[in-house]
Amino acid sequence: MITENQVKICQNCKQQFTIEPEDFDFYEKVEVPAPSWCPECRIKRRMIFMNQRVLYKGTCDLCQKEIISLFDSNTPFPVYCNACWWSDKWDPIDYGQEYDFSQSFFEQFQELYSKVPWPALQTIEPSLVNSEYCNICSYLKNCYLLFNSDYSEDCVYGTYVERSKQCLDNAMIDLCELCYEGTNIQKCFKTMFSSNCWECVDVYFSRNLRGCQNCFGCINLRNKKYFIFNKSYTKDKYFKELEKFKLGSYETVEQLRKKLQELNLTYPKKYMEGLQSKNVSGDYIFFSKNIFQSFEIGGAEDCKFCQFLFISPTKDSYDFTMWGGNATQMYECMGCGGGQNNIRFSYECWSDDTMNLEYCMLSKKSCSDLFGCVALGKKSHCILNKQYDEDSFKKLRTKIIQHTREMPYKDKRGRTYTYGEFLSPDFSVFAYNESFVYEHFPLTKKQALEQGYSWKDLKERGYEVTAEPQDLPDHIKDVQDDILKKVIGCQHQGKCNEQCTTAFKIIPQELQFYKKMNLPLPRFCPNCRHYQRLKQRNPLKLWHRECQCAGGKSDNKVYKNAIKHFHGSNHCPNEFETTYSPKRKEIVYCEKCYQQEVV
Ligand SMILES: [Zn+2]
Ligand SMILES: [Zn+2]
Ligand SMILES: [Zn+2]
Ligand SMILES: [Zn+2]
Repeated sequence: MITENQVKICQNCKQQFTIEPEDFDFYEKVEVPAPSWCPECRIKRRMIFMNQRVLYKGTCDLCQKEIISLFDSNTPFPVYCNACWWSDKWDPIDYGQEYDFSQSFFEQFQELYSKVPWPALQTIEPSLVNSEYCNICSYLKNCYLLFNSDYSEDCVYGTYVERSKQCLDNAMIDLCELCYEGTNIQKCFKTMFSSNCWECVDVYFSRNLRGCQNCFGCINLRNKKYFIFNKSYTKDKYFKELEKFKLGSYETVEQLRKKLQELNLTYPKKYMEGLQSKNVSGDYIFFSKNIFQSFEIGGAEDCKFCQFLFISPTKDSYDFTMWGGNATQMYECMGCGGGQNNIRFSYECWSDDTMNLEYCMLSKKSCSDLFGCVALGKKSHCILNKQYDEDSFKKLRTKIIQHTREMPYKDKRGRTYTYGEFLSPDFSVFAYNESFVYEHFPLTKKQALEQGYSWKDLKERGYEVTAEPQDLPDHIKDVQDDILKKVIGCQHQGKCNEQCTTAFKIIPQELQFYKKMNLPLPRFCPNCRHYQRLKQRNPLKLWHRECQCAGGKSDNKVYKNAIKHFHGSNHCPNEFETTYSPKRKEIVYCEKCYQQEVV
């Protein structure tokens, strides 16, 4: 048993990182060596293997049908439409390879996965009705450009939209209806331009509200009604005041957005977002316990270095990115979950009742005891898609693990891979700016190339813009139906770093929504809107800081406490891990001080 911290140098970024005794306990339990990459480099290494939202037009390599696909035409493996891929028209075991001890394991695995077909999209197709431009989704009806979303209807443009109806342009929402431009909104109705709201109705331009109704431009309120900029009004006065804001106007909306941003700096923020969790560090952690350095987690226990595990429960896992759902002892995995146990160095394994997989991708139906396999279903004891009996499997697996140490794989940048490491980013078929990593760790083209990643320049789309954004009617009431035929130029004109498509169209469903909700037309393309929303969220990084409550006021003297805190007139002694870097202007309070101020 190791009882002391061990400091290592990351093979990738060459920075120091610390492995703690509890980490060694976990590695020992799941029988893996300690990692040679730091936690952040490990997240990036996994995330580059996922393309969430860059879609291409293509053809199914089996039935020749036209498809919407995650893969560009130059992808090494065949791409099948989802119906063909899930069918019995082909058998992944036909791609089996004999293990070759003259070549490294990682190269052999790459060879295998370069020839086994992939499905065009990561969706459970029969569960999607009239929603073909969606990825990593299930159970959608009449949805468009929705990603990583489930059980929703009539929703357009969004990421992580769960169990919602008629919502447009949102990220991280659950059980919502008629919401617009929201981030981290749960159980809300008609909540617009707001973030971190819970159980709210008719709320506009607000942050961190809970159980509020008819609030406008408010921050940190609980169970309030008829408030404007944190001031109380009578019902009649509230609606009279509201009339003064021309909400259907783009100019007004932009002014209010700016005002909210300024206001936001004058109220304390809680050091992390989340709810009902115990003994946790990270951000957006809900109903969980013993979670460390993790982000966007719901209903999990005993996890560290994990991200985007909202489907509960997930237990006893490290370095697990996306989804969970009755998953235990997962390590260095991505896009796995649903009744899985003991999966390592694997991604996109979708089957229930699956266990003991290593270096596997795309498990189709329940599998167990696989090593280096692609797209297998209902199989066990296979290596490189070749079937063995249980005893031979065990012996060969042990020999291969030893072989990775004797003949490690060395990638383009001289990083070495032995058993215990996830795959080299060089193996990903996605360029840095098409992959999921780009959304959370953006780089410029120059930086990406310098760091050895590939980059894909957006294809010249040759859109003929028929309406410049500045020429659109300011107010929605002046918008005619012929707008549906227009190609609107994006205000960024492709000059941003946000996968700007340079132009966009308004779809009928969307126009109806804007009219009904009295909202102006957008001036940016859906991609730019998505990246703007991402920017409202803190990065997947933690800094150790102290509470900025100085006694009666915040450290910067901008915010005056409403009541006396537990630490009296002294500075609050609490410290924490937060996603607010020390350079940021927000006032960051510890849980206790924040709770005392939120009424
Ligand atoms: Zn590193
Ligand atoms: Zn754009
Ligand atoms: Zn404090
Ligand atoms: Zn305080």
